[in-house]
This record gives sequence, structure tokens and C-alpha cells, in this order.
Amino acid sequence: MPIQVLDEATIAKIAAGEVIERPASVVKELVENALDAGARSVVVEIVAGGRECIRVRDDGTGMSAADLRLAIERHATSKLRRFEDLASLRTFGFRGEALASIAAVSDLEIVTRPADATHGHRLRSTFGRRTTVEPVAAAPGTVVSVRDLFANVPARRSFLRQEGTETAYIQRVVSACALAHPEVRFELVVDGRTALVTDGSGSLENALVGIFGAEVAAQMVPIASPDEFPTQAEPLPLQVRGYVGLPTLTRSNRQGMLFFVNRRWIESRPLGVAVEQAYHSLIMVGRYPVAVVHLELPPDRVDVNVHPTKREVRFSDERAVFSALQAAVRRTLARYTPAQSVPSISFSPLSPPALQRRLVLADPSRVPRPVKEAAARPEPREAPLSGESERALPVLRVLGQLHGTYIIAEGPDGLYLIDQHAAHERVLLEQLMVQYERASVDAQVLLEPLVVELTPAQLAVLEDYQEELRQLGFQVEPFGGSAVAIRAVPAVMHRRSPNTTLLAILDELAGGGRGTSRLEALAISTACHSAIRAGQELTLAEMRELVRQLEECTAPRACGHGRPTMLHLSQQELERQFARR
Ligand code: ADP
Ligand code: MG
Repeated sequence: MPIQVLDEATIAKIAAGEVIERPASVVKELVENALDAGARSVVVEIVAGGRECIRVRDDGTGMSAADLRLAIERHATSKLRRFEDLASLRTFGFRGEALASIAAVSDLEIVTRPADATHGHRLRSTFGRRTTVEPVAAAPGTVVSVRDLFANVPARRSFLRQEGTETAYIQRVVSACALAHPEVRFELVVDGRTALVTDGSGSLENALVGIFGAEVAAQMVPIASPDEFPTQAEPLPLQVRGYVGLPTLTRSNRQGMLFFVNRRWIESRPLGVAVEQAYHSLIMVGRYPVAVVHLELPPDRVDVNVHPTKREVRFSDERAVFSALQAAVRRTLARYTPAQSVPSISFSPLSPPALQRRLVLADPSRVPRPVKEAAARPEPREAPLSGESERALPVLRVLGQLHGTYIIAEGPDGLYLIDQHAAHERVLLEQLMVQYERASVDAQVLLEPLVVELTPAQLAVLEDYQEELRQLGFQVEPFGGSAVAIRAVPAVMHRRSPNTTLLAILDELAGGGRGTSRLEALAISTACHSAIRAGQELTLAEMRELVRQLEECTAPRACGHGRPTMLHLSQQELERQFARR
């Protein structure tokens, strides 16, 4: 093809792809414009996950007719004049790209009026092609309506997630903006229903109530930050403010942690890790704290990435910032957590008496007998983790339970320690797969559907695994916004509460499940989260039943995640260890 300079419409469409990824990006840009315009109240309304309509109404400065016309031109901005000003910029926008990008891929309408004008103006733009501006009666401020987003970019439209998922992304953006600006009143209306609202009183605590609800907010405490964070060289010019959840308030994902640097919402794994580490040993592995953290530091100490869609930062004193945050959160938790409930972090090996106490013998009269003098068999090679080869598991006799976690059993050749969780996981996985192959998965229909709220990531997984979930006996339906109704679950899940288990499964799959296919990944995860847990006391009958079921498995020696289900101490090894020969 000969070289040609692209026409404006094509350039705009390409640029739009960079700034506007999904409806939530539109919401973010429009809300930031409202904040830049000094709004005290921002109302976001969305219809059908934002595909049909997104409307953002503010009571900010408004625009004159001349500015309005310019606003949707590319590189038209009122916020930056010279490159040198970039460093000292206090506004969110400066590229003058957002409205132009949105205009290129939607049916856009802006109604705006400066407070001191007698009337306002309305701009209409249709997919970047036709633009009209006319005078209208309007309230002071600006209302931007975006309809039929991406209708002229089918590829991008088809890439969008289901309505509930897009709604959840939008909800997170509005929540973050509201938590960054407690002095601004925010309201989000989803399909005509108010989903969240903050009071604009300036109190972060009130904003927490609006975003998380009173019950969660009541379990959050202000970060007790020292006035100064001394480093080796000099005091770190940093302020840490915000709220963190008590260790009793946890989530199964990281969505409850929000970070702001100089009022900008950012995503930062390292900051997340710093907070998580502060909770180390206070909350269970696999659970995450809730935290809303504001970091304030001089603009020259932080590089807020200027890429419009990435919310990442670089700190000039990175390590110092992380350890300061961690120290502040630790301090807060120590203050609010009764001392005796803070467990020590060191893991000392169990002393023999402790071990004895935890060794629950199934029948005290049946202390393990010396194993009968069987002809010494050659030691079997270390068993591979899975596969048909070691199908035959010897018949085992259950002796007791150790630490509420391991089943102690005796076999023809020595002692077996069986991890009850891993073993049960293996059993359930095979049951599930057999039922699936016979196309008759046992499902348990709930008497009443259970409604749960999902995070964007969980909704995305739900959507991706729709077919597999159905095949394994789940029946989960959209229930408006980011909520879903659970109607049925696989019968193997009967020991667990369906909602928390489903969430745990979705979280695991979001982190990239295990298995050679989606179906297998889902089955493995379902089995894992349905299986009896470590720490659960089992009766002798229950242990026998579990061992019997394990004996029937085709690959009994590893769970679906590849962890071994059992350890074997052969008779020969016992004799060697006790120096019997
Ligand atoms: P940027 O925010 O980077 O300047 P935008 O394309 O988002 O670029 O907006 C272009 C210009 O339109 C802004 O600089 C601002 O002057 C004006 N504008 C946009 N939204 C509003 C609003 N809600 N209220 C007042 N002015 C606005
Ligand atoms: Mg902007």
C-alpha cells in the first residue's frame, strides 16, 4: 500500500482506543473533568452497564459556547499551556484528549452553563461526524451524556463484558473517586436505582459509610500515623492517612484495598503487599484486609505515570514509603487489637509432649502394634504425584488423627499419614469428573436462591466459565448490577456454604486456575473448596470412609493441585530409624 496520511476521523478512533477502553474509562474521564471544574456534587447515571447510556452531571464551572465547541477537539484543554507547567499540575486532565476520544466513538451530548451566564449551550456530536451547538435553558454546571458507546467500533463493543461486569468496574471507579474526594457529594445510579451515595461532608469516615455500608465502616479504624517517618538520611516527607479494617474484617480478594497518592487513585501491588504484611499472622492466609489509604508527599518525590489509563506510580524513596506505610498500619492494628490475640510470628517446631497431646488415638487400647514381621519387601520407588500407575493403594487401617489434619493409618508395609484435605479433594475431584463424563452431575438445588455481590474480576470469570459451570451443576444467574443469584451447586459442595465457596472458586480461577482445560480447572477448584479442611476433627467412621473412597480413586496419591495426599513410612524405614538393624 502507498503511504497516506490518515484522516482525522481515523486518527481519533485509534486514539480513542488508547484512552477509552470500556464504559468505566468514560466514567473516570467525565468524573475527573467534573472534579477539575470544581464540582461539589457529581451524579453518575448508567444504563445497561454503560453501553446504552452514561450520564455525568456536575455543578462545576460550566463552559462558554466557545469553550464548548473547542472541548471536543483533540488536544484542546484549559488546563495546560506550556510543557513546563506539567510538573506543577494540580488537575487530573491536561491532554485534552478525553472528550475528543469519547466523541469519536459515541453519540455525545453536552449541556453546560457557567454560573454567571443567563443560559447554557448544548453540543451534539454523532460518532465524531456531525457537531451542532445551540443555546438552551440549563442549570449551572455541566451534564455530559454518552450513548451507544463503541457502536461504530464493533470489535471493541464485542470485547466488552456482560452488563453486570461493566457495572462493577464503574462502581469501583466511582467508589474510588468518592473516597478520594469526601468533600464532593457522589451518587451512582444504576438502571434507575441508587447504588451508592456519599454525603460530601468532607469526612472520609462518612464516605466509607456511603461506599462500604455502615456495617463494614464500623469495623474500620483510622490509621494511627506518626507525625514523622525518620529514615536513615532525613525525615521522609510523607503523610499516611486513611482507614484500615480490623483483622476480623477480611475479604477473599484484594478489591477492598484502595490506594491514593496525592488524591489520585492508583493501583500498586507493592503498597498492597505492604498493607498485607502488616496484617501478617493476624488474618488467615488467602484472606485480604480492607484498607483505604491516602499517601501525601511532595510532587517531586513521586512520578504519577502520565499514561492516561495506567494508574501506576513510582516513588523516589520507594522502600522508605513502603516500610512507612507498613509501620503505620502495624501500629494502628497493635493499638486496636487486644494484645493477647496477636499471635507470635515465629513458628517453633512442636515439642514431643505437644505432639502427644494432639495425637488423638481412635481407640486408646489400640496403640500402634509392632508391625507383624512381614517378609521385607523391596522399598517401592517414590510414587509419582499422579497417574494410573499407582492405582492400587493398599488396604489401610485407620489408627487416629493427628493435629486434626492428618489421618494416621497402618498398611501392610508400615505407617501412612494422610492429609485429610488433600485426600478428600482427590476423592471429590474424581467423583465430579466421573459424573461429568456420564453427563449426570449431581446438583443440589437451593431452596431459596442466594444472592451475592461479585467483584469485576469474579464476574469476568463467571462469564468466561459459564458453560463449564453449567456442566458441573452450578446454576448462577445475573441479578442486577454486580449481583448474581445462586440457584444450584454441585452436590459435592454440600458441606460448604454455596456463596462463600463460589466466591472462593471464582477467585482461584481469576488467579489462573490449574488443569489442562477450563472444565478441569473448575472441577479441581470446586473439589478443593468443597473438601473437608485441615483442622477439622473427624470420627473414626468418617476417616475410614474417606480412606475407603481414596482407595477407590484412580490416582489416589495426589490432590488436583498436585500436592501429595499421603506420606509413607515403610517398615524398613522404621526399623532403620530405630536402629533395629
Ligand atoms: P482535559 O481534561 O485533559 O483538559 P478533556 O477532553 O477531558 O481534556 O476536556 C477538554 C476541556 O473541556 C477541559 O480542559 C475543560 O476545559 C473542558 N471541560 C470538560 N469537561 C468539563 C466539565 N464537566 N466542566 C467544565 N469544563 C469541562
Ligand atoms: Mg479530562
